[in-house]
Amino acid sequence: MPIDRNRFPYLPERIEGLAEVATNVSWSWKRDARRVFHLLDASLWHLTRHNPIAILRRVSPERLSDCARDPRFLALYDRMMTEYRHEQDWLETWFAARYPDIPRDRPVAYFCAEFGLHNSVPIYSGGLGILAGDHCKAASDLGVPLVGVGLFYTKGYFDQKLRLDGWQEDSDERFDVRNAPLERVHGPSREPWLTRLETGGRDVHIGAWRMLVGRVPVYLLDTNLEQNHEEDRDLTAKLYIGGPEIRLRQEWILGVGGVRVLRALGVEPSAWHANEGHAAFMMVERVRELTTGGIPFDDAMREVRSRSIFTTHTPVPAGHDSFTFEDLARCAGPVWEPLGVSRETFFEIGTHPTEEPGRFHMTVAALRLSKHVNGVSRRHGDVSREIWAPLWPDRAAARVPITHITNGVHAETWMAREIAELLDGQLGSDWPYRMIEPDTWAGVDALDDAALWQTHVRLKVTLMNFIREEARRRWARHWKEATHVVGAGTLLNPDVLTIGFARRFATYKRADLLFRDIDRLRLLLVNSQRPVQIIFAGKAHPADTPGKEVLRTVYGFTRDARLEGRVAFMEDYELHLAHRLVQGVDLWLNLPRVPLEASGTSGMKAALNGVPQLSTLDGWWHEAYDGLNGWAIPPAASRATPDEWDADRLYQLLEEQVVPAYYARDERGIPVAWVQKMKHALRVAGQRFTARRMVGEYVAQCYAPAMRGNGSADDPPIA
Ligand SMILES: *Cc1c(COP(=O)(O)O)cnc(C)c1O
Repeated sequence: MPIDRNRFPYLPERIEGLAEVATNVSWSWKRDARRVFHLLDASLWHLTRHNPIAILRRVSPERLSDCARDPRFLALYDRMMTEYRHEQDWLETWFAARYPDIPRDRPVAYFCAEFGLHNSVPIYSGGLGILAGDHCKAASDLGVPLVGVGLFYTKGYFDQKLRLDGWQEDSDERFDVRNAPLERVHGPSREPWLTRLETGGRDVHIGAWRMLVGRVPVYLLDTNLEQNHEEDRDLTAKLYIGGPEIRLRQEWILGVGGVRVLRALGVEPSAWHANEGHAAFMMVERVRELTTGGIPFDDAMREVRSRSIFTTHTPVPAGHDSFTFEDLARCAGPVWEPLGVSRETFFEIGTHPTEEPGRFHMTVAALRLSKHVNGVSRRHGDVSREIWAPLWPDRAAARVPITHITNGVHAETWMAREIAELLDGQLGSDWPYRMIEPDTWAGVDALDDAALWQTHVRLKVTLMNFIREEARRRWARHWKEATHVVGAGTLLNPDVLTIGFARRFATYKRADLLFRDIDRLRLLLVNSQRPVQIIFAGKAHPADTPGKEVLRTVYGFTRDARLEGRVAFMEDYELHLAHRLVQGVDLWLNLPRVPLEASGTSGMKAALNGVPQLSTLDGWWHEAYDGLNGWAIPPAASRATPDEWDADRLYQLLEEQVVPAYYARDERGIPVAWVQKMKHALRVAGQRFTARRMVGEYVAQCYAPAMRGNGSADDPPIA
């Protein structure tokens, strides 16, 4: 690929591959590539929060030409380029070895409203987006032909600023496209749009940006084009912000625009995956394509179903969008006409059989239009079959055709380099290529206790330093509010048992559960022999006032003198901070109200770093917890007061098990029993909760059958 000389004017020819590597997100999980950019300029690496494009744009021309002559740099550079070419040439992939009969030219189209791939592209709000990012990364690693489709939120999500009283203020995210691995895709005559669609009674041009994720291109749609009406230019400006009308139009653009953009690019998918209901209009558009081509509506529905896969991600009602028929008709126009059916028949696709009539449910539509439907953990599969049973009134819940594929996380992204290097020594340095085989992980048990513990302690110190540096930066920015930052990490001590709690501040995740009994908590935290400290992070959805209240409550305790600075809150939770936290705390805490956590993934990220989890038995923990890899809060004896029960169990576990295990040291100062838990947590996560295992299951259960055209059309009909 020719390099963009406007973007990188001083790059010497000998190392010009740096430009190509920097603009493919795969650098972020390739250890050699990370080393190269670090070596290029360590302080810029740090300052830019690991952003190679920003580094290449800021590093001095002298430094670049020095590197182009430095044998040590060049040796590493050449090794990195060899690996990069290997990836681009699709050599020796898992998919090609497993599925030699399936050609690469008809990929899986993977639609999602958000993608969390790197902190330089802030177009995600939380777990769903990060999962989509990890899915693409693992698909690339395995050589699964897959194309991502999402929206390009030109203003990102939002930056979190907390007022002195802990109330969250949402400011626009600072987002510089020039420093992001994004490239505009042009139409055939260099025009900046690829297709058009009608929404709100106007024609809207749709442009796209391409983000390369290893072998996987992700196309992000954008309406911010001169050709569009002023009001339409902002349609895709921000993620999940604005009223239901904007949201609906965003989803219309994602679904309909996404299909048309792929067609314009000449991509002909053989399987279509809607990751969450937001993308369900993608299926409607494909029905329209077929009916306008002369195929009867019922046959078109069947054909679309046979190649569609739908993953539902939450049992929480607010996570399932529905729109009034009037709003949908206003957004989409009379779509039923090209479908050749009545308005009523069209709206039936999204009508919930037992809920309020007159609304089009995205999840219901996706259920009706997909052959394969799955939840994201075993438990969530059970819960989803119950929730959606009304769509199959003649079936018992157990026979509702919804399965589960448990989530996983991208190991190379989430595991600290230091831990990965320990594994190199124990499992052989090719372990990443063998991680999908469970036997690979058996060797974890044999890791040297002292080496693992010391590595962990180093990562913990890195986290503490990071937090102190952030606190200093914030202090410099808001020196008048200096009291604001005392406690936000400055009082943390690396010798103290450190608990991490970081995720969206949705109320069901119960960040405030720990504070139900302040006196009991105080005894735990402010113990002179065996103290405990806790670090919180997370954003509340801008429209989620109860979530913001929980955040304010938790933040208040960081400033409560009774807790003596043992509680910290880190502002602006995003990928970079998430890495530091899951790698550097001692214990990961997760307290969802059962059964509302579909999966949860942050605990998997922690476990891959040997950080055990304490959690209610919900989501992934319901199938992962085995008594050795962490701790579990058992289900409440009485359903009436689960909060009180869960809080009591939580304190009890911390007092009687967690704290004693952590502080029980041998003569070398190593908590041997704790280290056994660390190893076991790592082993279980590696064997069963990586994104490669997850994508492997999607391939086996859904993608490969659809790609082979085996999707039979005569599945049980939905009422
Ligand atoms: C992993 C992750 C999440 C999701 O965490 P859960 O435990 O699933 O709630 C949210 N935000 C960021 C930045 C993450 O890395």
